Amino acid sequence: MAFLADRLNKFEPSPTLAITARARELKAAGRDVIGFGAGEPDFDTPEHIRAAAVRAIAEGQTRYTNVGGTPLLKKTICEKFRRDNNLHYTPEEVTASNGGKQILFNLFLATLNPGDEVLLPAPAWVSYAEMIRFAEAVPVPIYAGPEQNYLITPEQLRAAITPKTRMFILNSPCNPTGATFAKKELAAICEVLLEHPNILIASDDIYEHIIFDGLRFYNPAMLVPELKDRTFIINGVSKAYSMTGWRIGVGAGPEEIVRNMEKIQGQCSSNPSSVSQAAAVAALGEDQECVETMRQAFEQRRDLVFRMLQSIDGIRAIKPQGAFYIFPDVSEIYEWPRFQKLLKDDPQKSRVFCSHLLDHYDVATVAGTAFGDDNAFRISYALDESSLRKGLERLGNMVNDLR
Ligand code: PMP
Ligand code: GLU
Repeated sequence: MAFLADRLNKFEPSPTLAITARARELKAAGRDVIGFGAGEPDFDTPEHIRAAAVRAIAEGQTRYTNVGGTPLLKKTICEKFRRDNNLHYTPEEVTASNGGKQILFNLFLATLNPGDEVLLPAPAWVSYAEMIRFAEAVPVPIYAGPEQNYLITPEQLRAAITPKTRMFILNSPCNPTGATFAKKELAAICEVLLEHPNILIASDDIYEHIIFDGLRFYNPAMLVPELKDRTFIINGVSKAYSMTGWRIGVGAGPEEIVRNMEKIQGQCSSNPSSVSQAAAVAALGEDQECVETMRQAFEQRRDLVFRMLQSIDGIRAIKPQGAFYIFPDVSEIYEWPRFQKLLKDDPQKSRVFCSHLLDHYDVATVAGTAFGDDNAFRISYALDESSLRKGLERLGNMVNDLR
């Protein structure tokens, strides 16, 4: 088409957003769709956070702010890191954007040169690789499958490092697998990173608070103080405070990187919404009880979903220890003759599996191929219990019909 840029050929549209939109459309058309697609909590934003936003509007906090957030938001972000992570940052070392997504985008544009290699443990969230390509750098997946609980080993990391490696991305708890590093395993990963001082660590901590089985959250800067100077933390209010629509993400790391991310943001979107910033101050700075209440609900749902999946023959699920996703392996079902009949021209089996589930059983999920693993598909279990049961029963019916 005449008016489109070549740049568009370098990356794909977001499949997680696409499936969410499709499920929404089908529901609007009257179909009783169970939405396991959207990666967002189903809870309302807690009342005290909404009230802070209403107050901000009434008080006239409706103008441009500093690009990387108001002084109050920056101070609150510093306090959050001190309280939750025992990490000390100055306001110059933290910044706010339109979601964790824009933090990542700014970070990649500010730190990656064309041809730089970015190590990306996979399966990985859909947007990392596309954003890395947008910055003309090269995503290098390090694949860890179900047999290793979807966690990469230090040996795999070491083997993937080349002179061109510029960055390592860590996302624990992980979207889409829910895999979460325990302290010891993460420490072993950090040992390897310590040997390579030229690698910047991007730690996407967005699921920090959604963690189960009494596990404690760690990132490399918390675990190994020597790594703090080259760790950049990505976080936000979307998941922990059920605030996906407010679009506030936060970042913390070396001042020079923050300054240059803000330089990019200043020529692109300027500050994130002033009203959302006021809401984020309440979320990050006030009572944290809502976070634990939602975490407990997610843990109960995890238990239910895992149990129900275990009872479906042909599905192999690894118990997630964080986030609100499970990533069941269905490669056994791919071998069944009835499934093979469904495969027409689409070589991506997980896509055929998920389309069949949506078209004939009214359950929306995301194909594993979007995350770099065609053997599996992603269920987001951020739904009430009765919807979860209904959706999983439908999945069980589909598998039975295919058997
Ligand atoms: N990182 C990961 C791993 C995510 O799953 C998401 C959710 N889309 C984000 C970052 C960004 O979330 P947000 O832009 O809503 O802060
Ligand atoms: N993190 C969510 C997901 O993975 C939200 C959608 C997106 O931004 O990708 O589904």
